[in-house]
Amino acid sequence: MTDLQKIDELARLVLAGGNVVFFGGAGVSTESGIPDFRSESGLFSAMQVYGRSPEELLSYSFFRREPELFFRYYKENLVSLDAKPNAAHTALAELERGGKLKAVITQNVDGLHQAAGSVNVLELHGSNHRQYCMGCGVRYTLEYILRQEGVPRCRECGGIVRPDVVLYEEGLDQDVMQAAMLAIMGAELLIVGGTSLAVYPAAGLLHCFRGGALVLINKSATPADRHAQLVINDSIGIVFAKLMESINIFK
Ligand code: ZN
Repeated sequence: MTDLQKIDELARLVLAGGNVVFFGGAGVSTESGIPDFRSESGLFSAMQVYGRSPEELLSYSFFRREPELFFRYYKENLVSLDAKPNAAHTALAELERGGKLKAVITQNVDGLHQAAGSVNVLELHGSNHRQYCMGCGVRYTLEYILRQEGVPRCRECGGIVRPDVVLYEEGLDQDVMQAAMLAIMGAELLIVGGTSLAVYPAAGLLHCFRGGALVLINKSATPADRHAQLVINDSIGIVFAKLMESINIFK
């Protein structure tokens, strides 16, 4: 099958089923110009500028030990204010509005799915749009921490204001994880995109899927390819743009 035939087949699967779930990784965001800090170039620049790996810079123990450096790296690498949703984000929002898509599960923290109009977004690693004071729990906006030099402090109690993202060494939010598992368990069609499925908990979540068809969209091969009904090795933005064209023709 050519990629176009595969996309037509995916369009038929979307139109046939009423319960589609999307699970996305870093590749969904890189196409909006957000660099993947886990990539080879992300590792290279972290080592060059900070002499440390992204995993160390974004670990809870490093955050406690060197909060100034943590926030410098965090603001430079995990916040992209100019990033805009791409064709994958807008297509997923449109499929949700049309009642086909039930949930977006994402490992990204940039809020681009919500910016595109998606409502049921399960953010496994939290969101850089939410911050809270570690002392008193008061919530703050992203702008609040970006305006502050060095370590952002709470207006009420002087505590450190931290991003509501899951750092290395920290556990995932169990409510979000459970909601993601339930969404995948209930899915008839599971589309997985922009992830090599190497990072926890992506691989484990796929085991919850017991529905009809699994479709993988990624530029390179993944360990789950042999379980998938369709594997499309292409840019996720291009695939979703073509998918929406195909759906509009078939429906
Ligand atoms: Zn406080």
